[in-house]
Amino acid sequence: MDKAEKVTIQEASRRLNVSQDVIRRSIREGKLVGARGGGPDGRAWLVELPEGEWLDDAKQAYIRLEQQLPHWWWPEVEKTGLVHYVESTGIEELMPAFLCGLNSESIYGANGHKEEERCPQCVAEAQKRGLTP
Ligand SMILES: [Zn+2]
Repeated sequence: MDKAEKVTIQEASRRLNVSQDVIRRSIREGKLVGARGGGPDGRAWLVELPEGEWLDDAKQAYIRLEQQLPHWWWPEVEKTGLVHYVESTGIEELMPAFLCGLNSESIYGANGHKEEERCPQCVAEAQKRGLTP
């Protein structure tokens, strides 16, 4: 196995595209390997550049959030009946469009809904389009 490349915190910050604070925090938390030994007096911190893609916590959390954006929503504030699938809840869309064609002025989060509460037409359409349920 090749020895990992060791660089200064400044260089690691540039190469990994995160702030130097993130690099220092990652060393403290053991997510990056760092040790003193750089610079003319051997006291500067050196960081082992991680192999492959390395993402800081903030980016990882953001990506998780993106992936977990819910698709199922109630069309009514009473939260009764069926929940429907919304492909995109982007703020640029004035009207949420449910997959089954139902229109709604607004949508209400359906976290914790049961699977049998899902609109069968939305389920079928989502499967047809290969969307994540
Ligand atoms: Zn529906």
